[in-house]
Amino acid sequence: MIDLVDPIYVLTIVFFVVALQQMSDPKTARRGIVAAGAAMLVAVLVTFLVPGLGNLLLILGGAAIGGVLGYVAAKRVKMTDMPQMVAIFNGMGGGAAAGIAAVELVAFTDAPSYLGLALAGALIGSISFAGSVIAFLKLQGWMTARPVTFPGQQPVNLVVLAGAIGLAGLTLYLAAPTWLAVFFLLALGYGLLMTLPIGGADMPVVISMYNALTGVAVALDGVALVDSGAGAAAAAMIIAGTLVGAAGTILTVVMARAMNRSIGNVLFGAFGATVDSGAGVTGSMRSIEPDDAAVMLAYASRVIITPGYGLAVAQAQHKVKELMDVLEAKGVSVRFGIHPVAGRMPGHMNVLLAESGVPYDRLLDRDEVNPEFAHADVVLVIGANDVVNPAARRVGSPLQGMPILDVDQAKNVIVLKRGQGKGFAGIENDLFYKDNTRMLYGDAQDSVAKLVQAIKKL
Ligand code: NDP
Repeated sequence: MIDLVDPIYVLTIVFFVVALQQMSDPKTARRGIVAAGAAMLVAVLVTFLVPGLGNLLLILGGAAIGGVLGYVAAKRVKMTDMPQMVAIFNGMGGGAAAGIAAVELVAFTDAPSYLGLALAGALIGSISFAGSVIAFLKLQGWMTARPVTFPGQQPVNLVVLAGAIGLAGLTLYLAAPTWLAVFFLLALGYGLLMTLPIGGADMPVVISMYNALTGVAVALDGVALVDSGAGAAAAAMIIAGTLVGAAGTILTVVMARAMNRSIGNVLFGAFGATVDSGAGVTGSMRSIEPDDAAVMLAYASRVIITPGYGLAVAQAQHKVKELMDVLEAKGVSVRFGIHPVAGRMPGHMNVLLAESGVPYDRLLDRDEVNPEFAHADVVLVIGANDVVNPAARRVGSPLQGMPILDVDQAKNVIVLKRGQGKGFAGIENDLFYKDNTRMLYGDAQDSVAKLVQAIKKL
């Protein structure tokens, strides 16, 4: 059996790579997630076959508590609360990586080069853990989602980070773990301080970055464990950690780019600290009744639906599929325009619409759909706000430069939302005041249901 341990670890590595590849396409993503989960389960189970494993009760107890909590949380979580769940799960990964490094460091038996790597893993894992906890608190609404700023914040943060790095160096120089507790406190403190000035709207980008950091910390731990004779287990950690680090980094860059922001601006720009004055907004909002909106939709040739966070809140995806079906039965062409950061996490809209059975070929990404708006008779904006806000084209707007869906180019725009609520960025939306825009007020699921009923009667 012992001879099987290393080959099984290698097999799990192959599964991780294939699973990640499958996750890159919505059609195979579900299979990829199951494959990655199964490979992780096998990697954990095979660890019990490693000879000389101590503290069995503690390990089993920890796994049972973590397993039950994770299962219940994942089963119960609402789709709209997914980002904070990802944040806290990721934070646990960072904390675990820091914990593994701490065990190596407290024993202080490895060669200095490996201890250096363990210190780096401990630093990055601790920052990721503390930062993810703040991200969770902000998104869960257990603390203010607004950027928390104070004078001299960046220099203070730098001093704390420099202190942690300095103590890591001192630990290696003294060849003793004397300063480890202070080192960990400073590393955790930096994660906390670095995340406080980042606004709630930027949290998904930050979570993705911490996810990448967790991967890097795990990979560093893996390298540090090579000296302890961990064999293929260390290789599995290095490769899985590197995959997470690379995927997380790419996702972070893609998300920041979709908002036309640099990573530096997301991390240090305190976006959301100032409130938009709404300068540039002219005119007034005009409402429309479901029956009139239904007539516009039913007699249109081309309709484009652009969903946003409100679709997720209202859980309106199944009604939206019904709307698509009744319109298509009347010969209307229906397609969906998906902004890469619509909702609260990457792929949020794709997941919801796939759940309700909307075929993938109806979903157009921003570059594909933007030239189509000018030819659309009606654009139905369902719970989207920031991603369709033409203020992004206005000089001086906090959204300036964010690539948006150009829905205002359509002949008619109908916006479904409950009231006067702003988008996550807290910016007034120029679109709602345009001559070709009508507001259909109400919960999105309710409003779409009314549209379906009214269209069926026509
Ligand atoms: P927004 O958060 O800008 O707007 C959501 C709109 O939905 C609000 O105007 C709200 O208005 C409406 N709404 C809420 N609940 C309902 C309901 N039950 N029925 C009908 N309408 C409802 O959403 P967008 O998707 O346009 O933009 C996403 C924002 O999140 C962007 O700022 C983006 O940068 C940010 N973000 C997203 C990330 C991602 O990965 N997806 C990552 C990082 C940031 P009202 O209250 O009046 O109903």
